[in-house]
Amino acid sequence: MKSNPKKHDVLVVGAGFAGSVIAERLANVGLRVILIDRREHIGGNAFDELDENGILIHRYGPHIFHTNAARVVEYLSQFTEWTPYEHQVLAQVEGQLLPIPINRLTINGLYGLNLDEAGVKAYFERVREPREPILTSEDVVLNSVGRDLYEKFFRGYTCKQWGLDPSELSAGVAARIPVRSNDDCRYFTDEFQIMPKQGYNALFQRMLAHPNITLELGMEFMTDKWCHPVRHVVYTGPVDAYFNDCYGKLPYRSLRFEREHFANRTQFQPVCVVNYPNDYAFTRITEFKHMTGQTHPGTTIMREYPKSEGDPFYPVPRRENETLYHRYKTLAESKENTSFVGRLAQYRYYNMDQVVAAALKVAEKLIEKLIGS
Ligand code: FAD
Ligand code: UDP
Repeated sequence: MKSNPKKHDVLVVGAGFAGSVIAERLANVGLRVILIDRREHIGGNAFDELDENGILIHRYGPHIFHTNAARVVEYLSQFTEWTPYEHQVLAQVEGQLLPIPINRLTINGLYGLNLDEAGVKAYFERVREPREPILTSEDVVLNSVGRDLYEKFFRGYTCKQWGLDPSELSAGVAARIPVRSNDDCRYFTDEFQIMPKQGYNALFQRMLAHPNITLELGMEFMTDKWCHPVRHVVYTGPVDAYFNDCYGKLPYRSLRFEREHFANRTQFQPVCVVNYPNDYAFTRITEFKHMTGQTHPGTTIMREYPKSEGDPFYPVPRRENETLYHRYKTLAESKENTSFVGRLAQYRYYNMDQVVAAALKVAEKLIEKLIGS
């Protein structure tokens, strides 16, 4: 230990968005925080860096910032400038690159039609398989666009990504992807679609550059083995691991990332992400330059290969996992001096902005508890 942890009021485990936002908020009101992460860097899964060829890449997969929460943007704007970026994704289906979310251009391109908006709406009405109630991801897609589009765009991708059939996953997973009858090719429609101008790592560096924050990287937190007294612990790692998997392991989905650099090619693909629902073992290819706006004579791409073992990247939303999580949640709630916050600690398929919003709320409560409002 380089520092003397006895001097700290709060221990924060995990330097991703959840832990870093809380550390910053508490430090800002004068509390002394020790922030640790088992990894050698800050930023959690949003960490970015220059690769060996000088291209700004996201080490743990593409992170596109989008939100409707003005409060989240306002808060983060203290630590970064922004650059506008509207994300676009194409899916390779039957040899064509077609817009996803499915829209008018997708339907006309796939079926060789020339439908207008009303025609596309009527088409969906004709092919959809109404489902009631809508419980699974299969229900969501069949209910809106019917079986052929389900098979071509969703089934294979979902099976690869989750190792489960869409019928085995909660509705919320596929419901992330809207269906459109117009020509809007944006992946998101949020009010704020912006990327940190100098990258995420720079944002985190500024957020954590506070004299009340002691940062210890490469440090593992093990429950019951932390022997330096603090008034409160904020834990942002996997909730089951905190309790030594006492009720059994919660499933997480992991990924293997494969990067490739092309020194003499300025562009690899027409948009930032191309999805491969039916071909190959990987789900998608990201070309970073599209989202970072970097100019460079070469380009770097990343393929994502889903797997069950490894770093826990995604909670797996399905009823039996929710039930198991709720047993851990009850245990967590009984720990008065520990807060569980973030995608892994709350076992929620949270986007970055949702994690920031949750962390801001927890920080407010903690400040009230630890120093009064
Ligand atoms: P994390 O970022 O996972 O941070 C938790 C930290 O805790 C980690 O750094 C970990 O090392 C540390 N830790 C855990 N246990 C311990 C321990 N025992 N001791 C010490 N340290 C520990 N969101 C979006 O908004 N847009 C996107 O485009 C997007 N794309 C994504 C793509 C991928 C491939 C993935 C995996 C996620 C994506 N997300 C995206 C979600 C985003 O990554 C998360 O919402 C956010 O980063 C979660 O922040 P967090 O702090 O909760 O968790
Ligand atoms: N999905 C799909 N086909 C696609 C895109 C998404 O089947 O072309 C499904 C799939 O189950 C995926 C989920 O929708 O896991 C959510 O997609 P999103 O792009 O939000 O995933 P993330 O970026 O979080 O990995």
